[in-house]
Amino acid sequence: MKVAIVLAVLVSTVVSTDQLFGHQEKLRHERSLVKFGALCSGNPTNQKRGCDVKGCGNYGAKRGSRTHKGLDIVCNDGATVYAPFDVQLNGKAVPYGSPSDLQKLINDGVNLSGEGLCFKLFYVKPDKYRGSLKKGDRIGILHPMQRVYRGITSHTHVQMCDRSDPTKYF
Ligand code: ZN
Repeated sequence: MKVAIVLAVLVSTVVSTDQLFGHQEKLRHERSLVKFGALCSGNPTNQKRGCDVKGCGNYGAKRGSRTHKGLDIVCNDGATVYAPFDVQLNGKAVPYGSPSDLQKLINDGVNLSGEGLCFKLFYVKPDKYRGSLKKGDRIGILHPMQRVYRGITSHTHVQMCDRSDPTKYF
């Protein structure tokens, strides 16, 4: 009888452990499949900024002595910026620590989380900095980037909170 109970406990432990690992595997799989929905009006495919007179938009691009820790997605000045999936708004994101007077025009953005991801969108003027939005809801508009960087491909900068490469989510 004791042996039977011990066996039953062992078997149930193995089963629940398998279920747990299976669940974690599924979560990991789902996370790897997360894709950003359209971020900006006029760019339904999330076209990335290539290289222009001001530099390149890819993650890791050179920025003087530093490297670009985000991915730039084409977004026209004044375009509507959308929630790429269901998100929480977690406060203001600030691109520049010591902005010039011109940079102050676009020194704005929002911290977001959703789909297990934590990220920032720079150069966006959100309607609000707190709360939640559904996929496709309006976050706000893009600030007037051309007034600051004439000739650049206007864009929103997507940066993961851990500064890892967001490209796989696009
Ligand atoms: Zn950028």
